[in-house]
Amino acid sequence: MLTCTQSPVRSSMRFPRTAHRRVHVRWRGVVTSRGEADGRLVEPGDAMLIRRAERDRWVVLRCPCGCGSDVPVNLDLRTGPAWRLYSPGPSMSLYPSVWRESGCESHFIIRRGAVLFVATVRWLGLGTGHLDQAFLRSVASALKPTPTHYSEIADSINADPWDVLDACRVLERRGKAREENAEGSSGTFSRR
Ligand SMILES: [Zn+2]
Repeated sequence: MLTCTQSPVRSSMRFPRTAHRRVHVRWRGVVTSRGEADGRLVEPGDAMLIRRAERDRWVVLRCPCGCGSDVPVNLDLRTGPAWRLYSPGPSMSLYPSVWRESGCESHFIIRRGAVLFVATVRWLGLGTGHLDQAFLRSVASALKPTPTHYSEIADSINADPWDVLDACRVLERRGKAREENAEGSSGTFSRR
């Protein structure tokens, strides 16, 4: 089972075996059933999309920690808590974070194809080189006077939530956004 969490931070973490090196999604394509994915996921970070009747059902990942498990991530809201997949392919993002409750208990995010373990990333907002000014402006104009979670801001402008979190932190440093601080970082931002 997976936890669908809005907050990619938790203190008690096991250190993943692969956390010392960069793991990237290796896109293995699109199939119509879970069975077709069996045996085709080999390396940590291998990923397949299961799409049936023109609907995305699952992304199945070979666990990026290196434990050898396949991790099915539900994309279909009709069947329970669902993740959102952005840019299916080698540069995919998944939102929110994936947190395995059994086995290796890994907790990671996937952003633009890069696997970032929560134990190593803590919070985003550090590597912002790819955010252009137009995107920052669109996030700035989407900020509200009342504190709003970055995922809601992302929804309002149809953007990748990890990018929006990064942008909010950049805007905060520029004095254009304020983050509500509950136990450090809340992920909710208001216009300043
Ligand atoms: Zn694992």
